[in-house]
Amino acid sequence: MSFFSVRNIRKSYEQKVAALHNFSLDLEEGSLLAIVGESGSGKSTLLRILAGLEKQDEGQVLLNGQEILNPSQKLVAGYDEIKLIHQDYQLYPNTTVAENIARPLLLFEKNYTQKRVKTLLKQFGLEKFADRLPRQLSGGQQQKVAIASALAIEPEVLLLDEPFSSLDRIQTHQLIGELVESFKEGKTTVIFVTHELDDALRLTDDLLILQKGKIIQQGNSRVLCENPKNQYVARLFSPINQIPSQENRFIRPSDVKLRTKGGLLGHVVDSRFLVHFNSLQVRLKESGMIWEVDDPLRKYQVGDRVYLNWNTEKELVLSS
Ligand code: ADP
Ligand code: MG
Repeated sequence: MSFFSVRNIRKSYEQKVAALHNFSLDLEEGSLLAIVGESGSGKSTLLRILAGLEKQDEGQVLLNGQEILNPSQKLVAGYDEIKLIHQDYQLYPNTTVAENIARPLLLFEKNYTQKRVKTLLKQFGLEKFADRLPRQLSGGQQQKVAIASALAIEPEVLLLDEPFSSLDRIQTHQLIGELVESFKEGKTTVIFVTHELDDALRLTDDLLILQKGKIIQQGNSRVLCENPKNQYVARLFSPINQIPSQENRFIRPSDVKLRTKGGLLGHVVDSRFLVHFNSLQVRLKESGMIWEVDDPLRKYQVGDRVYLNWNTEKELVLSS
C-alpha cells in the first residue's frame, strides 16, 4: 500500500467524452511528481478529485490507506491534509504577509503559530517581507506566500495547479529554483501540474504525461526524452523531423549534423538566432520537406546548400 494511491479514476462531465479515463497513480511520501498535459487534458479535474473537491464517477483516492471522500460523501468538501493551489490563489489583501501565512493557524496556540510562521518565512526566504501587504510584492513573491500559507498546517499533500501561469519566465524560473530548495526541507508530497514541460523539468525529474485524460507515459524525464512513447511525448521535448519515405521514423533537430558534402541534400530557407544555436529551416531537395536543424556553430546562412547526416541509433520510431 503506497502513501498516496489513486485507483482507476474515471470522470465525465458530459456523457460522451471522459475528462479522465481509468487514471491510477501511486506516490511515496515526500515525492515530487510533475504532470504535464496540454490544456483540456484533465489536469485540473484530476487535482480537484485528489483534493476531495470534485466527485469522480468511478475509482478511489487513498491517503495513508484512508479513502478521500468526495463532496457528495462529506459535509464540508476538502481536507486539511491535501491542499490545492492554483494560478489565481487569492491572498487577503489587507493583511500582511506574516498574517496571511498565519491565517490557517487561527485555531492553534499563539506560541506555536508564531514559531510556525517564522519557520515558513525562513523556508521561503520571505522574512524581509513579513510586514508587507501582498500588493507590495511581485507576483512571484505573492505566489510564494500563497504556497507558504497552504503549508502552514503541514498538509501531507500539496497540489499545485499551474501556479506560475500569471508569472513571467524570469519570475517563474526564480520561483521554481526557490521551491525546489524549500520542498527539499519539508516532507510534503507534491504534485505539480503544468502545460509547460520546461517548468516541470526544472522542478523534478519525475514526470507523468497526460493526454486527453489518459496517462501516456510516466517515468524519469531523461528516459522519456530518449524513449518517447508517441509523437506527442517526443514533441513536448523538441520538434521532430520525419525521415523521408519512412512513415514513423523521426530525428530531433539537435541530432542532425550539418556538412558541406555527403548526406541528405537541402537548402537553408530560414535561420533564427536562439540562445544555444541557430535554428535552421532546411528544404530537402528530393522530398521538398522542410526540416528543422540546429546549427550550434552558427555557420550557415539562408541560401546555403547543406548535407544532413545523423546516427541511425538516434532515430525515434513513433506512433501518432
Ligand atoms: P486542464 O486542467 O488540463 O486544462 P480540465 O480538467 O480543466 O483540463 O478539463 C478537462 C476536460 O473537462 C475539458 O474537456 C474541459 O472542457 C472539461 N471540463 C472541465 N471542467 C468542466 C466542467 N465544470 N463542466 C464541464 N466540462 C468541464
Ligand atoms: Mg487546468
